Amino acid sequence: MSKQAELRCRCGQVSGIVTDASPRTVNRVVCYCDDCQAFAHQLGRADLLDASGGSDIVQIAPASLTLVRGQHLIAGLRLAPKGLFRWHTTCCNTPVGNTLSPAVPFVGIVVQAFETGSQTPDEVFGPPVGAILGKHAIGQPPAGSTGMNLSLLVRAIGKVLGWRLRGRAWPHPFFNRDTREPVYPLTVLSAEQRKALRQFCGPHPTAHAT
Ligand SMILES: [Zn+2]
Ligand SMILES: [Zn+2]
Repeated sequence: MSKQAELRCRCGQVSGIVTDASPRTVNRVVCYCDDCQAFAHQLGRADLLDASGGSDIVQIAPASLTLVRGQHLIAGLRLAPKGLFRWHTTCCNTPVGNTLSPAVPFVGIVVQAFETGSQTPDEVFGPPVGAILGKHAIGQPPAGSTGMNLSLLVRAIGKVLGWRLRGRAWPHPFFNRDTREPVYPLTVLSAEQRKALRQFCGPHPTAHAT
């Protein structure tokens, strides 16, 4: 059964609603890639990573997410000029959605944004269906996280295609439908800034977040 889930930043100033929230309608995966790790460190939110540096992400259709409060506190970050758009709040640096350009319609949201006290991500979305990019995990890669996971890939592509076909690409919470431009201010890290984050990320970090 699909239901509505609440999204909320850590301090509560930014909130949103996800409709059509159920294990069936989303793709929940733990990502160990070094970009996700670097993003958390750039935000000063290493607390969102698991012990192996994983980000537990729920991918949903763009049209499923509506931001209802605190939109003036949202900004985007790209780790490189062509990287993912990683949207976050500026109040407490909570990630609220990773996206590509709107041509590839999905929004990936860290599950902690759905921990509201009255609701847990497991209740709403079920547990993660898999893990990816374990070669970047800190220390020993978690079981099943390395190599190519074909069924996960097929599932992810199927979701995105389905959202597109069913008209769930718009409205997009982070892009203007007419111009295809982001609706929130955007920062792109320089190569130097990106490089400085590598020391915190797997598989063998040389520095620890303080
Ligand atoms: Zn906040
Ligand atoms: Zn990642």
